[in-house]
Order: sequence, then C-alpha cells, then structure tokens
Amino acid sequence: MLLESRTAIVTGASRGIGRAIAKKFSSEGANVTINYNNSLQDASSLLKEIEGNGGRGILVKGNVSRIEDVRQIVKDTMSTWGRIDILVNNAGIHYAVDLFEHSEEMWDETIDVNLKGTYLCSKEVAPIMLRQQKGKIINISSNSGMYHPSAMRFAEYVSSKAGVNGLTKALALRLGPYVNVNAICPGAIQTDMNAFRDSEAIKALIEETPLKRLGVVEDVANAALFLASDLSDFITGELMLVTGGRGMHQ
Ligand code: NAP
Repeated sequence: MLLESRTAIVTGASRGIGRAIAKKFSSEGANVTINYNNSLQDASSLLKEIEGNGGRGILVKGNVSRIEDVRQIVKDTMSTWGRIDILVNNAGIHYAVDLFEHSEEMWDETIDVNLKGTYLCSKEVAPIMLRQQKGKIINISSNSGMYHPSAMRFAEYVSSKAGVNGLTKALALRLGPYVNVNAICPGAIQTDMNAFRDSEAIKALIEETPLKRLGVVEDVANAALFLASDLSDFITGELMLVTGGRGMHQ
C-alpha cells in the first residue's frame, strides 16, 4: 500500500479523472475527502463504492473558486482526519468553443475554476503541510497548457492551464523543502469533458498519438499515485505529460 494512513483531498472527485484518482488513492490505503460541486449522486455513489471496498472517505460539497467553500473543504478534512498529506487540484471546466464564440463570463468562470481554484486550495492547504513538514500537491493541468496545437483555439482553457503550469513551479519553489508540487498534463482522456469531439476528430487524435489510443482515467490516476507517494520524493516543479506520446516534440 503506497498511501497507508495518508489523507488526501481530491477536488472535483464526483466524475471523470478525479473520481478515478480518489478510488486509486483509497485502494492504496488513503483516507479521501471527495469534493464535488453539482454531482451529489455521483459523489455519493463513489463514497459508497470506496466504503464497500473497506476504504474511508467523506463528501464535501464546494466550489473551488470560492474561498469560503475551500475553507470548508479543508476544515471538514482536518476535523475528520486531523492532517492533510495530499492535495489533488483536479476540478476543472472546459467550454470547448472558439475564441469568437465564448463570452467574458465563460472566460471568468474558466480562469476562476481551473486557475484560481488551484491557487485557493493550495494556499489553504500549504500551511498545514508545512507544519507537518511533508505534503504533496498535484495539479491536474493539461497538455493544452504546454501549447499543444490542437488546443490553441480554446483561448480561455489554454490560458487557465498555462497559468496552472506557472503556478505549479512558483509553489514548488515557495513550499520546498517540505512540500512537493507537481502537475500532470494529460492529453485527451475519455471523460465527459471530451464529449464535444466527433468520431473523425477522435480518429485524427489517435492517429497522431504514438501509443495509438485515447487515454483512460486510470492512466492519469496511476501518474497521480506516483506523485502522491514516497516514490516521487525528489521530484518537484515538474510538468508530467500523460498523453501517449502525443505532443512530446513540442
Ligand atoms: P469531467 O469529467 O467533466 O469532471 C469534472 C469534475 O470537476 C467533476 O467532478 C466536477 O464536479 C468538478 N468541478 C467542476 N467545476 C467545479 C468547481 N467549481 N468546484 C468543484 N468541482 C468542480 O472532467 P475530467 O475530464 O475528469 O477533467 C478533470 C481535470 O482534468 C480537469 O482539470 C481537466 O481540465 C483536466 N484534463 C482533462 C482532460 C481530458 O481529456 N478529459 C485532458 C487534460 C486535462 P461536479 O460534477 O460535482 O460539479
């Protein structure tokens, strides 16, 4: 068990990648705070599944772009488990519309959830990790934040994830030597977020991927497990591509 007796917060854990990370961490022995925003049913079914497998978790509703909600997530976690070893900033949104079709509100919401949410959660959790003299922060960014050409038409999403990549390095510098801060930059992963792509787009995407498939949520969860565990103790400020090799030459 790589995460025995550790406590992890996973934001946006009701669906998709966050859900897979919460499950993976639990199966490796971690207590998990399952944060969700709208999908209570999905979050509840995850908690049931975790407990059914002998794991431990709590549910905390909250919008990561609101400081009061973030404080509640941290407060509930501390009052239940008494420590926070791992924070996964996974909650994210992607409108997937062209620059001239998206609105100022879409820009604000995307930056607020993807970038500001990561900043707020990290800033609330960091003092606890520094007191503990150990902690791991893992930001679920995107290869869009490394300017993959196919993503560049989504200006607000690219900007939010490029911001997350910069924030990852700034936090890694500030929070060392006790807290490791890394980002995972997934390519296209099969979740609701990719529902906008038609079959032609998916085919083209697979074609340009050296490993010749789309990613699945477990691919990202496995990378997150590595970064959450002691196996990555000498790694910080890193942006790890999980793309099946797509975009590695950029
Ligand atoms: P998804 O299936 O759409 O799930 C998004 C999750 O984020 C949901 O659990 C949702 O919770 C939560 N969320 C959204 N807004 C939130 C908020 N304001 N506060 C708290 N939680 C919020 O997306 P996904 O594909 O798993 O994406 C997860 C992360 O991976 C995102 O950061 C995304 O940008 C990144 N990513 C995804 C891909 C991909 O191809 N799928 C590629 C690169 C990066 P509720 O449903 O409860 O509201």
